[in-house]
Amino acid sequence: MKQKPFGCSGINVPVIGMGTWKTECDDKKEVIEAIQRGLDLGMVHLDTAELYGTGEVEEIVGKAIDQKREKVFLASKVLPYNATFEGTLKACERSLKRLCTDHLDLYLLHWRDGQSLEETFRAFEDLKRHGKIRMYGVSNFDVEDLKEAIAIVGEDKIACNQVLYHLKERSIEHKVIPFCEEHKIAVVGYSPFAQGHFWDSKPEGDKVLQKIAKSHRATPRQTALAFLTRKESLFTIPKASKIKHVEENCISVELKLSHEDIHEIKRVFPLGSFCGLPML
Ligand code: NAP
Repeated sequence: MKQKPFGCSGINVPVIGMGTWKTECDDKKEVIEAIQRGLDLGMVHLDTAELYGTGEVEEIVGKAIDQKREKVFLASKVLPYNATFEGTLKACERSLKRLCTDHLDLYLLHWRDGQSLEETFRAFEDLKRHGKIRMYGVSNFDVEDLKEAIAIVGEDKIACNQVLYHLKERSIEHKVIPFCEEHKIAVVGYSPFAQGHFWDSKPEGDKVLQKIAKSHRATPRQTALAFLTRKESLFTIPKASKIKHVEENCISVELKLSHEDIHEIKRVFPLGSFCGLPML
């Protein structure tokens, strides 16, 4: 699996990782096998959160990475309601326990909701000093939030911003991606398949995607993932609880879209004028 530098962190991370939201509703054995297959294929960026299944998903992930922990780039997230200084330290301990590990590679603030960013980042720094997390980042931050965050912790501290990004929702291209690129913050796109609504789009979009996919002997989903990771700053974390889906997603990194392909995809899935931050 191709890797690239993850923001300011100085480490390489796979272009395509794996999400885990709602896997508590899937067949758990199948989910664990799918995650393990993905890890074997090099999709070692594994994204979870204390929110998912109210901790149940972290337990599933813990089982899936047992015996494979050293190869995983493990990310989890603290809920804003827990993100005081003390609350963040405690939430991290609970996540570590559920995940059966002694450290996270990446710890994110799930979204902003009125809590003190100073406290959250002080806790992140503390966790880093004590080896509980290797790096930290944010999620669902718009440019104003990011400016505030950088004013608190300084440059080269925030490894990534995890944000909604799929073909029908490209708003982050207006301001968030350029800002992140300028400040060496990796952009991790979530819900790359629009949360299972991949095909609910304009017929022209679907037709063009199929045509481009066919010309590369790829699938439309692989074409979408290639588009969503076409720049050095962009990573993606599709969720797949079936081995065949994991395998299909993994091969996307081999797909090189031409300038014409990218132009055509942009034409049929237009950017729109909304400049704010999209959230689910
Ligand atoms: P998604 O990745 O856009 O879509 C997941 C759906 O696509 C599942 O139904 C999955 O099916 C299906 N799928 C995956 N690969 C497929 C393939 N090759 N062929 C056909 N179907 C395929 O949805 P998401 O879970 O919302 O987003 C991904 C991850 O981003 C989440 O799991 C989570 O880790 C993260 N996320 C973060 C936030 C945040 O606020 N930071 C918000 C949302 C999501 P199967 O499961 O049946 O394989």
